[in-house]
Amino acid sequence: MLELRPNCELCDKDLPPEAADARICSYECTYCTACVEQILFNVCPTCGGGFAPRPIRPRNAWRSELRLGLANHPASISRVHSKFSPEDIASHVARIRHLKPNER
Ligand SMILES: [Zn+2]
Ligand SMILES: [Zn+2]
Repeated sequence: MLELRPNCELCDKDLPPEAADARICSYECTYCTACVEQILFNVCPTCGGGFAPRPIRPRNAWRSELRLGLANHPASISRVHSKFSPEDIASHVARIRHLKPNER
C-alpha cells in the first residue's frame, strides 16, 4: 500500500491525501509540483527517478467488505525532509536531468 506522506520533502508544503499537486517517485518520495518542476526538474533527489501524480485515496470505503479508503488506511502523519543539502540536490539534478526517466 502506498504511504501517503503529509508534506513536500523539500519545501515542507502540506500535501494532504486529496492534494492535486502531490508528486511521488517509485519509492514514494513525495514533493509538490512546484518543487518538481522548478527545482528538481523531474529528478528525485534520492533515487534519481522521475515523478508521477500521487493517486488520491478515496475518503469512503466504497466496498464496505474490503475495508479500504482513508478511514481504514489513513495517510501518514510523519513529516519527511530530504537529508540532502540544496547544493547537493542541485548538482545531482544537473548530472541527471538531461536523461528522460526511462533512460536513467
Ligand atoms: Zn515543495
Ligand atoms: Zn526517489
